[in-house]
Amino acid sequence: MFMDIAPRSYKGPRLFKKKGLILVFTGTGKGKTTAAFGTVLRALGQGMRVAIVQFIKGGWVSSEMKALQKFKNQVEVHIIGEGFTWDTQDFVRERRIAQKGWDLCVKLLKKRKHDLYVFDEVLYALQYQFLKQGDVIRGVRLKSPESHVILTGRGASPGIVKIADVVTEMRVLKHPFSKGILAQPGIDF
Ligand code: ATP
Ligand code: MG
Repeated sequence: MFMDIAPRSYKGPRLFKKKGLILVFTGTGKGKTTAAFGTVLRALGQGMRVAIVQFIKGGWVSSEMKALQKFKNQVEVHIIGEGFTWDTQDFVRERRIAQKGWDLCVKLLKKRKHDLYVFDEVLYALQYQFLKQGDVIRGVRLKSPESHVILTGRGASPGIVKIADVVTEMRVLKHPFSKGILAQPGIDF
């Protein structure tokens, strides 16, 4: 429904002009983090304030972060566990780092200073049981009614899907990695 004001004849569900949303980008295909950052770009264009916490798996600090330096007055970026690889050999350490990351997300949500929050790869941390689903659900509920939260990562759990307003599953039809083509600058990082 793309209407600002419903016509008199409108008989559908109640319309909300302003509503903070919970968005989930999940699945095995490429595009989850890309979709989150695309939304960040829109929010910045709207003059909104954005907080990003990235629970990274790989070792590189992404170029999105460098580009966002140009919006320093609107955006706050935190990278959790930089340079470490979710090495499940050391479950206790990984869990401690992920937990610290989630504590930061909760702190940001409680402050209510931002209009959009992106918790990138947080669902990955949940899938690996570094975080508890109940803690994440309780934390997300602390957001102000007007603010939006984006959660990304493979394998969104049923409880997360339940609390979300938008759930999009990226499904691989093709990925160049299957032809041996490695991650490309500007496309993958
Ligand atoms: P992107 O950051 O490109 O939006 P993503 O967030 O959906 O990707 P992640 O699971 O976070 O995907 O993985 C990030 C990296 O892995 C990216 O370099 C991406 O191209 C690559 N990747 C994503 N999906 C696949 C896949 N199905 N096969 C191989 N590599 C993938
Ligand atoms: Mg990603």
